[in-house]
Amino acid sequence: MKNESLFRFFCKSCNAEYLLSKPIWRCVCGSFLDIKFKGKIDPAKIKKEIFSLWRYREFLPIEKDENIVSFGEGLTPLVKLQIYKKEFFAKLEFLFPTGSFKDRGATVLVSKIKELKIKKVVEDSSGNAGCAISAYCAKAGIDCEIFVPENASPAKISQIKIYGAKINAIKGTRDEVAKKALISAEKSYYASHVWNPFFFHGTKTFSYEIWEQLGFKEPDTILLPVGNGTLLIGAYIGFKELFDSGLTGKIPRFVAIQAENCSPIYKIFKENLKNMPEIETKKTIAEGISVAKPARWQNIIKIIKETGGDVIVVKEEEIIESAFELAREGIYVEPTSATAIAGLKKYEVKDNEIIVIPLTGHGLKSMENYLKFLEV
Ligand SMILES: *Cc1c(COP(=O)(O)O)cnc(C)c1O
Ligand SMILES: [Zn+2]
Repeated sequence: MKNESLFRFFCKSCNAEYLLSKPIWRCVCGSFLDIKFKGKIDPAKIKKEIFSLWRYREFLPIEKDENIVSFGEGLTPLVKLQIYKKEFFAKLEFLFPTGSFKDRGATVLVSKIKELKIKKVVEDSSGNAGCAISAYCAKAGIDCEIFVPENASPAKISQIKIYGAKINAIKGTRDEVAKKALISAEKSYYASHVWNPFFFHGTKTFSYEIWEQLGFKEPDTILLPVGNGTLLIGAYIGFKELFDSGLTGKIPRFVAIQAENCSPIYKIFKENLKNMPEIETKKTIAEGISVAKPARWQNIIKIIKETGGDVIVVKEEEIIESAFELAREGIYVEPTSATAIAGLKKYEVKDNEIIVIPLTGHGLKSMENYLKFLEV
C-alpha cells in the first residue's frame, strides 16, 4: 500500500485513530474525524510533470493512481491585483471544472470513494459543493443524491441535475437539509464537504500551490470568505504541513470575511463565546457563506486565533460594490466571492504585507443576482 502508513483518521474528542481503509466519515464517539499526515512534504517529491493538483499526490491520502478521479484540475492562476488602492494576489479559484474551489475537495474525496468501492453517496449543499461532488461522481460512475434547500439558486440546481445526480429539495433551513441528508447517509456513504475529512485534504492543495507560485514561500495573510470553513481549514492544514516540514517560516494569518446578515463566526470570535449561539440571520446575496451553524466552528475559531487573524463582516451593498470593482478589473465572480474584496476594503494592510485572496466561485453561476443591478 502506497500512502496507507503515512495517514490516519484521528478524533480530537476521544483520541481514537483508524486506518483510512475503513469506510467511515465520523468517529464512533459521534465527533468529527480529521486526517493526520505523518510524513513530510518533500519538494523533490512534487511531480512537476503533472499540471494539476495531483502533482502533490505523494501528500494526498489516495493509494492507487488508477482510483484518481480527475479533470486535470488545480494550479489556478495567482494574479497581482490592486483594488481600493490595496495590492494583493488573487487566486482564481473560480477556474475549476465546476466553477468553484470545491473541486479541490471533490477530486480527493471522490477518488477515495472510488478506492473504497462505494457505489452510492449522499451530500447536502446549497450549491457549489453539490455541483462538485455530482460532477466527480458522474465521471467515476458513482450514484449521487444531493439534498438542497428548496430556495437554492436555479443555476446551481440545474448544474447538479445535468450531471445526473438525484436532487432532493427540502423545505426549511440549511440545518434541516443537513439532518435529512444524515438520515439518508445511514444507508449509503456521506460525501459531506463539512463532515468528511478527505474533502479537507483536497482543499489543502490551495496552500501548496500558493507556496509554489510565490517561489516556495508563504504569504503573510490569507483573506477569504468563510461559511463552513472548508477552504479555511484545508488551507490551514496545507500551510501547517509545510511549516511542520520546515519549508516555511510561519503559518499565514487567516482573516475570515462573513456577510453581516449571517455571521456566526464573527459573533463567536468577537464575543469570545464558548458555545454556538442562536443567531438571527437574514437572507444574503452571498449564498455560498449563508451558514448559520457551521459544524466545525471550533476548528475555525482556533485557526483564526492561533494565526493572529481576524473576522470582518460586510454589508449587502458593500458586497455588490466589490463585485463591480472586480468586474472592472475583468474578473467576474459570485457575490459570495466578492465578500472577500469588501473585507479587504476594511482591512488595515501593513507595510509589505503579502496578501492572498481566493476568488472562490464563477460569476456565471449568479446571473439572476446580477441582473437586478444592471440595466439591460
Ligand atoms: C463554499 C463556498 C464558499 C465558502 O466556503 P466554506 O467552505 O463554506 O467556508 C465561498 N465561496 C464560494 C463560491 C463557495 O462555493
Ligand atoms: Zn471520537
